[in-house]
Amino acid sequence: MPVAPLDLLDLDDLLTDEERAMRDLVRRVADDAVRPHVAGWYERGEAPVRDLTRTFGEVGLLGMHLTGYGCAGASAVAYGLACLELEAADSGVRSLVSVQGSLAMYAIWRYGSEEQKQRWLPGMAAGELIGCFGLTEPDHGSDPAGMATRARRDGDGWVLTGGKMWITNAPVADVAVIWARAEEGVVGFAVPTGTPGFTAREVRNKMSLRASATGEITLDEVRVGDDARLPEARGLRAPLSCLTEARFGIVWGSLGAARDCLHTAIAYATSREQFGRPIAGFQLTQAKLADMALELQKGWLLALHLGRRHDAAGLRPEQVSAGKLNNVREAIAIARQCRTILGANGVSAEYPIMRHANNLESVLTYEGTSEIHQLVLGQALTGVSAFA
Ligand code: FAD
Repeated sequence: MPVAPLDLLDLDDLLTDEERAMRDLVRRVADDAVRPHVAGWYERGEAPVRDLTRTFGEVGLLGMHLTGYGCAGASAVAYGLACLELEAADSGVRSLVSVQGSLAMYAIWRYGSEEQKQRWLPGMAAGELIGCFGLTEPDHGSDPAGMATRARRDGDGWVLTGGKMWITNAPVADVAVIWARAEEGVVGFAVPTGTPGFTAREVRNKMSLRASATGEITLDEVRVGDDARLPEARGLRAPLSCLTEARFGIVWGSLGAARDCLHTAIAYATSREQFGRPIAGFQLTQAKLADMALELQKGWLLALHLGRRHDAAGLRPEQVSAGKLNNVREAIAIARQCRTILGANGVSAEYPIMRHANNLESVLTYEGTSEIHQLVLGQALTGVSAFA
């Protein structure tokens, strides 16, 4: 039997029994609830986000690395493994879980009042309520400091005006974490999406993350009480810290998409014959497979190292940048290389490779583009900022 590409080096031995059990559970959930359907969702550009959220809530995946309020309190490594297994099914489905847990729930958990936590977190952990996280705007992506969305004090409350773009889960969300500029700097709000003046329009025509709901939010004089403001969030550091949380999940998740591509390519190469023999027997094919398996395993070791450090002492942002930059870059290279092994079938929706490759284009861009992560590392190495 050929060695399973994920475990050429017996890396499974580095996990605890509990971590392996969590990994296996999430793999089963993804196999049952996502894999059989996801190609159809992707083709139609839709996903049953509410049903999936409930399913993931039932098994404790939402905000699983947070504590209290119905959250599972799992380790960073267990959370990472869950992201990997979900993204092996589809990056859009992993995005749903990342945005819910690491962006929307984390923002409320870390920066919210006790009342806000009680109001939102148990329902979000259970999958009954869906959250989104609005930072990016049409004219401000990599440079969120330039945001144009405004929060103006109005008596005891606030008025929010502006717009957010490319917001995952927005069309189906019950609560939107919205970042806006106020007189005192950047502030955050947990806005019920039914508030008058709040609208979320679905972004259509995506060629990537098609099994994920993405929205454009308009804030037209949205009035909220001061109890909607996240009291502990002061300045841009708050949303950036949420992004660091979510990026950690991507360090792992991207490897899932790559693993699924490699499994597919190996299975295909061993059965597809050309010139009278399986294409797996050609040295050029084997060189590709060997290099991809190595990158996958190196990426996994990097993810595990970051996960163990996260659990022991926390991570610096540039450490998460290193993981996201490397693992997404390698995952997309693996997906593209696997595509070549399937020849024309590689572009068919009958196989998952093109879907993963297209999804990874979004993963390369969101949560900080690869260029931005290079600049983060460049600044950490030299002490000089090259951002502006
Ligand atoms: P830009 O910032 O305009 O960048 C364009 C190019 O210029 C990139 O290659 C970039 O690397 C490069 N560039 C920019 N500045 C520099 C520089 N200083 N030096 C060198 N190169 C530079 N956002 C949210 O807030 N919430 C979400 O839930 C969310 N979900 C998303 C889902 C999808 C499917 C996608 C595609 C995006 C999502 N985003 C979300 C937005 C995402 O975070 C932004 O797209 C990302 O930050 C990049 O911003 P931009 O698209 O405006 O690109």
